[in-house]
Amino acid sequence: MRQELSRTETIPVFAPQVGADELAHLAAAIDVGWLGMGAGTKEFEDRISAFLGLRDRSVVTTNTGTAALHIALRAAGIGAGDEVITPSFNYVADHQAIHMCGADVVMCDIRDDNLGIDCEKAAALCGPRTKAIVPLHFAGIPCDIKGVYQLASERGLRVIEDACHGFGSLVDGKRIGNFGDIAAFSFDPVKVVTSIDGGCVVVRDPAELERLRRLRLLGIDRDTTERYKNRRAWDYDVVSEGYRYHLTNVLASVGISQIKRVEDFIHTRQGVCREYNEAFHALPGVKTPSTDFSGVSPFIYSLRIRDGKRQALVDHLRAAQIDAGIHFVPVHKHTFFKDARRGDMSVTDRVVEEVLTLPLHSCMRPDFVERVIDGVRSFFR
Ligand SMILES: *Cc1c(COP(=O)(O)O)cnc(C)c1O
Repeated sequence: MRQELSRTETIPVFAPQVGADELAHLAAAIDVGWLGMGAGTKEFEDRISAFLGLRDRSVVTTNTGTAALHIALRAAGIGAGDEVITPSFNYVADHQAIHMCGADVVMCDIRDDNLGIDCEKAAALCGPRTKAIVPLHFAGIPCDIKGVYQLASERGLRVIEDACHGFGSLVDGKRIGNFGDIAAFSFDPVKVVTSIDGGCVVVRDPAELERLRRLRLLGIDRDTTERYKNRRAWDYDVVSEGYRYHLTNVLASVGISQIKRVEDFIHTRQGVCREYNEAFHALPGVKTPSTDFSGVSPFIYSLRIRDGKRQALVDHLRAAQIDAGIHFVPVHKHTFFKDARRGDMSVTDRVVEEVLTLPLHSCMRPDFVERVIDGVRSFFR
């Protein structure tokens, strides 16, 4: 009977790994009687820092990843009249965050191998107003980050890494965020670690750390230290612009519960991605990700379906009650950003017709993995 039921259950693209442990952490957080930003927020930041292996860098949590990107750009000094380069093949949060700074988005093409920014094309887009570059580590697979930092040092650009897909991914043995300039992460409902909604910035410069903390909380100067003790500063000054972007104790408690198990989440996700690679790599017209997922914290499993067969495969999977997603609709096709400056988009324009996201969950049920594999393979038989 159970078997019968599970056979007809739709497999979602994303499934949160939340339950009893999160509820216990939530109950304990509510019991403290301090719901807003406080000691729990600080504990989550400390745990993020420990997980990323940070020594000379600090973590500033926020209420969303978009907010993290926004204040990261502002802390780096991005403002009106500046240009910021980011891939069109990215989530629109980045473009909106750039826009919120009063800066202009310049959209760049991606590479065919890792679907990250094409640094040669980015170099060609640099102009006198270019101030920063926002590369995305798509699906958790590191982009050509050495190329990005090479370009940044040649042109004097700031780098704000969109690491929202890559919480825990490694480059040369270091976790993303633990090297380079500034990195932004998201803990939104579908990310590998969730705090229901949340995000963080990782920063090295102590002055920028202070700016980030003020930008996060309405420009107020000394509130962070007090709030981290579950107290408020009553005599404070407001010294800059600021937003209401902080993460509450209650939501941080969910993040704490999750980050205690993150190694397990990453391990099981890598296992599923490897099974998928193995099952799909030889199928005609299918291009699996060019990685064995070692050192990758996989956010999504995105593969490419060529020969115009993607929609037929989506329909075939849907008939087998398997959901599939598409990451992304390129941002230069959206109404609001259609006039943004951009270069050649030939790889993006091709790739967006081919990408397909299959279900990937932390601790994914083995029968789900089996059904996804059978579902895809039966299409090609
Ligand atoms: C999730 C995500 C964001 C924004 O994070 P939110 O927490 O949803 O605001 C930004 N960029 C990318 C690529 C993302 O996947």
